[in-house]
Amino acid sequence: MTALKKLFKRLRANSRVPVAVLSVILVAVGFTLLAQEAARETDARKSPEMLQFEKEPDAWLSNQRNVSELIKSVDAGQVATVALANGHPGLVLYTLKNGAKASVAVPGCTVLGCAGTALDKLAERGAAQGFALVGVDVDPRTKSQHLLDLLGTIVSPLIIIATMGIGFFVLMRLQTGAGGSASTLSERPEIKFDDAIGNDEAKAALNRVKAFMTDPSSYVKLGAAAPRGVLLVGPPGTGKTLLAKALAGESKANFIAVDGSYFTATFYGAGVAKVKALFKLARKNAPCVLFIDEVDGIGKRSRGNEGGGAESEMNRIINRVLVEMDGFEAMDNVVVVAATNHENNIDEAMRRPGRFDMLVRLAKPTLPERAKLFDLYLNKVTSDGSADTAALARMTPGLTPADIANIVNKAASSAAEKGAATVTSDHVLRAIETQLLGGEISPVKDLLTEGTRVRLAYHEAGHAMIGHWTGAGLVERVTIEPRGQALGVTYMTRDTEDPLYKQNELVSRLAMMLGGREAELLVLDSVSSGASDDLKRASELAIEMVGSLGFSETFGLLSVGGIPKELLGPDIQAAVLREARVLLEQAQATCRTLLTAQRARLDAMAQALLTCEVLQGAELKEMLGEVGRVPLPELAPIGRDQALALAFTRRV
Ligand code: ADP
Repeated sequence: MTALKKLFKRLRANSRVPVAVLSVILVAVGFTLLAQEAARETDARKSPEMLQFEKEPDAWLSNQRNVSELIKSVDAGQVATVALANGHPGLVLYTLKNGAKASVAVPGCTVLGCAGTALDKLAERGAAQGFALVGVDVDPRTKSQHLLDLLGTIVSPLIIIATMGIGFFVLMRLQTGAGGSASTLSERPEIKFDDAIGNDEAKAALNRVKAFMTDPSSYVKLGAAAPRGVLLVGPPGTGKTLLAKALAGESKANFIAVDGSYFTATFYGAGVAKVKALFKLARKNAPCVLFIDEVDGIGKRSRGNEGGGAESEMNRIINRVLVEMDGFEAMDNVVVVAATNHENNIDEAMRRPGRFDMLVRLAKPTLPERAKLFDLYLNKVTSDGSADTAALARMTPGLTPADIANIVNKAASSAAEKGAATVTSDHVLRAIETQLLGGEISPVKDLLTEGTRVRLAYHEAGHAMIGHWTGAGLVERVTIEPRGQALGVTYMTRDTEDPLYKQNELVSRLAMMLGGREAELLVLDSVSSGASDDLKRASELAIEMVGSLGFSETFGLLSVGGIPKELLGPDIQAAVLREARVLLEQAQATCRTLLTAQRARLDAMAQALLTCEVLQGAELKEMLGEVGRVPLPELAPIGRDQALALAFTRRV
């Protein structure tokens, strides 16, 4: 009863429903009346014989005979009427003059005649024997068969429609995330701020959010505005997800993570429904950190009416996110943390107070932080402790924590592949090389001739020696194993991340860049195409030193970059090039002096590289010699024997 009452109430509340039902009934009645009228008109055009057959076909169909009986009756002139069924080939009904009714199956008979069958020339026979030949609309199926077929015809499209409907419904649910968002929820992550190395400023900001989340009532009491949205900005892999999770861990809150593309849906409106479902889930699981990664995916609104439906859908999604955030009560205890690498793509409306108004920037790790990251991740694998994490940190400027985690993971995987018991420094260094040079040892290695290997060994040894002895940096590792585009590499690092380079440092770098080519020239009397990149970089640096860094005698304090274009004539250009060339030649002279003086050391190092392909750590240091012990350039050459002895102390 109550259900009926409810239904009436609803119908009264929504006047469109009865109008729709009434329209459907009227259409159905109209259709039935029309069908009846059409049948009546058709019947009026038919002969009485035809109507006889059609009204009660069962009288004929229930008396099945064979063809020979019909032929006999035809020949005996006993047949009064023969009817051929329309739409049912092979069905023939007939009435005898004595009133008997029967049917017969004659394959090949159609309503057009029975040519080529036992009843050939039926029309002619009819004329001769005086029986009528008619075409009739008779259905040979029984009533129940007919009903079954009818049901089949009606039900099969219904089944198809229902299947499509269910499919559509399931897809909609998937799209709106109504069924799937629980999978994005993780309860109270264990991660803490201390699990993230560095980013102290970000942690301090997030600590303020933590204070609110752990005790929102104290904020409410004082009438303070609760934080609702935090925008984490930083390059990929700098720990945005990690810190958002740590915020949840520290605040003993639940954590929901999605990314911007989660909201983009195939069906119009489904994205907005997803936003609603997600915020509902977050409120239900409060205290909760709702993390939206790559929020720039939805963060930029289109203006005016440019763009199509997809953009307006995007606007609706952003609006919905903002409406949900505006509706937060302090006691809801839900904080939305959004992450992006493209701050400029975030709509201004999203940055207003009460929305994503707390901006936290994350940076790539500094030198000491990278060393800590290597310590952290090497502690998580079975390492033999041989890695010098400070050196690893020096070798990886610009890498993110995620890169470092990946390097250690790669090192551990390759140790496992090689069946090693522990992860060694060599595994990590090789993983770094793969990461920095973009590839494993290249197949070019097998194509190198012995002559080329010797050249490569002297080239890299030249870079290393000059870099070391001029103080351009710390030589960490020298290798002649080709990887990516490089045939050999000398890893040179600085022990600080000071963004400024002093004059002598730049001069040394210039010499270091030329050291490889000069070693080739000194030992092999010729140079190779392998030095082209060194020359290019050295020329760029020399021009920069003359043109903008104040190393020029001609220009003094004048920076070529600051001279207006109209004053930059060919003589200024020629002067810059001339002076840059002088700088390069001075660097070349330094290389020659040093390499000639240290020829034996150079030979030893090249020899060691040819034998072992990689030099690093203590052996490398020993081979390079101790800077500062001997004043440059009167560096005392070591004896050839001594150098060769050094070369072979390295294990092969
Ligand atoms: P983002 O969200 O900025 O792209 P993630 O938080 O997903 O970066 O970081 C990827 C992985 O890198 C983390 O799972 C973690 O292993 C490591 N990682 C990132 N930042 C740090 C950090 N500050 N300290 C330690 N590990 C980190």
